[in-house]
Amino acid sequence: MERGATVVVVSATSGTTDRLIEIAKSASSGRLEDCEKLVFGIKERHLGILAETGNNPQSQTQLESYFTELELLVQNLAILKELTPRAHDHILSLGERMSSLIFRDVMATLLPARKVTLLDARTVIKTDSNFGKATPQLEVIEKTARERMDLSGETVYVTQGFIGSDLQGNTTILGRGGSDYSAALFAEAISAQVLEIWTDVAGVATTDPRLVKEAKIIPELTYSEAAEMAQYGAKILHPATIAPAVRKNIPVFVGSSFEKDLPGTWIRTSVEHRPSVRAITKRSAQALVTITTPSMYNAYGFMGELFDVFGRHRVSVDCVTTSEISVAVTVDNATLENERFIRDLEKVGNIHIEAGYALVSLIGNELTRKSALAKAIFTTIDDVNVRMMSLGASSYNFNFLVKEEDSKAVIQKLHRALIEAL
Ligand code: ASP
Ligand code: MG
Repeated sequence: MERGATVVVVSATSGTTDRLIEIAKSASSGRLEDCEKLVFGIKERHLGILAETGNNPQSQTQLESYFTELELLVQNLAILKELTPRAHDHILSLGERMSSLIFRDVMATLLPARKVTLLDARTVIKTDSNFGKATPQLEVIEKTARERMDLSGETVYVTQGFIGSDLQGNTTILGRGGSDYSAALFAEAISAQVLEIWTDVAGVATTDPRLVKEAKIIPELTYSEAAEMAQYGAKILHPATIAPAVRKNIPVFVGSSFEKDLPGTWIRTSVEHRPSVRAITKRSAQALVTITTPSMYNAYGFMGELFDVFGRHRVSVDCVTTSEISVAVTVDNATLENERFIRDLEKVGNIHIEAGYALVSLIGNELTRKSALAKAIFTTIDDVNVRMMSLGASSYNFNFLVKEEDSKAVIQKLHRALIEAL
C-alpha cells in the first residue's frame, strides 16, 4: 500500500494538563509555593523521561526553555492576580509541547530510515479565539497543512494534540481531551488513509467496564453509533473526533498502547453486524432544566427564542422534551454556574432546575423501529423512576434520565438483558 505522510499526534503525559490547570489557578491567586511544587513535579517527570530516551542535548535545551516560559507565565499571573482565558490556554499548551518534543526523539530512534520532524501544531490547527474550547477553521487548516507539510511520504511528523492558534497567533486549546479531535483534524486535512487512536483501553466497550465487568470490546461500529456514544458519555473518544473522519470517509481505529496486539475497535461507514443495542453509555452530573411560559399556549417562536439563548452562550443541548407550555432540557451541572446564561433563560420563561441526574443512553441501530425494545427496557428497570426520556430524533439512541444513585444498577440490568443475553 502506498503510504503518504504519517502524522503522530501526541497528548500531554498523564496528569500533566490537570497539574498545569492547578498551576494557573495557584499562580493567579498568589499561591506561589503551590506552584513551585507543581512545576517541580512536571519538571522531574519530563527530565526523567528525556533521560530514559537518550537525553538528546537539543531537546534538553528546548525543554529547559519551556520551563523558563512556564516560570515567566507564573510570575506574570502572580503579579496580575488574574487568569485570562488566553493565558490559561497558553499555559495548558506546555504539556503537549513538552511531551511531543520527547516523543520526537523516541520516533527518530525507532525509525532511523525516515525523516522525523517536530511540527508545531499551532502553525496548522487554526481556530477562532474562543479560548478554552476553540472552534477549528477547517478550510484554513486544510490549506496550511498542504502548504506546510511534506505529504510525499518521506516525512514522519510528530505534533501536539489539543492545541492550536487563532488568526492573531494566540495559542488556543480545543477543550479537554481534545487530542483525539486534533488527530482527526490532521487526518482530514491530509486525507489520511486511516486515523488510529492509541489510548489506555483496548477499544470501545459495550459500556464502562468499571460499571459492568462483563462489558466487551466492540470489534466494529459505525460512525453514527460512535458519534452518539462519544456525545452521550463514552469517555474513550472526544465527541468531536468522528465528524472529520466522516467528512473524508477515513476509517478510525481505537486500540490500547499497552496491549497493542489486541484487535481493538474499527469505526467506519458500514459494518457487518448491526445489533439493535450495541452499547450503553452514561453521562453523569446532569441537571434537568424546565422552562415554562404560560404565554406559549397556541403561540409560536418560543423554541427559537429559547434555543437562541443556548446558542449565544454556547451551551450544548443534549436531550429535550416538550409539552404545550414547557420545554425540559438536560445540561451538564457545570452549566448552572454560568449565571449570565441562567439569567437570560429566566427572560424567556420561568425556570425550574433539578440536579443529581445521570443520562443513560442505549446506542444501537433502528431503535425507532423496535417496538419490543421499549417493553424490554421498562420491564428490566421497572423499579426505577425514569424522570425523562427521548427517542426518535435519530434511530441510533434512546436516552433516559435517572437519578445518579440509580444509574449503576440501571446500566448493569440493561447490559445483562439487552447485550449479554443476546
Ligand atoms: N492533554 C489534554 C487533556 O488532558 C488533551 C488530551 O489528553 O486529549 O485534556
Ligand atoms: Mg486523551
